[in-house]
Amino acid sequence: MSRTQDRTAEAGWTPKTKIGKLVQEGKITSLEEIYMQGQKVLEPEIIDILLPNLEQKVLGIGLVQKQTDAGERSRFKAVVAVGDGQGYLGIGLGKARQVRTAISKATAQAKLAVIPIRRGCGSWECGCSLPHSLPFKVQGKCGSVRVEMHPGPRGLGLVGGEFVKIILGLTGIRDCWTRTFGSTNTLTSIAYAIYDALRNTYTMVNVAG
Ligand SMILES: [Zn+2]
Repeated sequence: MSRTQDRTAEAGWTPKTKIGKLVQEGKITSLEEIYMQGQKVLEPEIIDILLPNLEQKVLGIGLVQKQTDAGERSRFKAVVAVGDGQGYLGIGLGKARQVRTAISKATAQAKLAVIPIRRGCGSWECGCSLPHSLPFKVQGKCGSVRVEMHPGPRGLGLVGGEFVKIILGLTGIRDCWTRTFGSTNTLTSIAYAIYDALRNTYTMVNVAG
């Protein structure tokens, strides 16, 4: 029953991109295939189909006030993280007059920003080969915020602030030491600095230390 409903929901979506059509037709069945070809995901529905276990967490909602000729205008800003618990993560930002719209905009943006995270066990104290931590130390930056992440042994847990725990939790990484530097009261910068650090699990060459 639920399967039929899912199919109907997918059939109700009209893809606008070639990749979207191939995903809907079942000719592309994984995100790897898309990334390996150097292609970009431009429709959130592609992520819904390829990562059916994607979880969403609202990291924060703020009020943005702007002076216009007509007076002060306020809008809500939402920061959302999505992850499948298996090494995929996205962060998105959405602004709207209604909280709900801001969240759904941010969620769609987070889906389009989904990237693969390389997991592993780079902890010398542990040395197992399970993907419970990071393969090596990584760093990330956004604005004045800098984040450092070190692989940790099994059973350590996620050591760091609240957002580190939520975001890393969405990737499936369970053991990790993190340190945050800079103005750590700016949620958007923290979220994007963490995202940047995790993206570096694929772009950075391992340097010991
Ligand atoms: Zn280990």
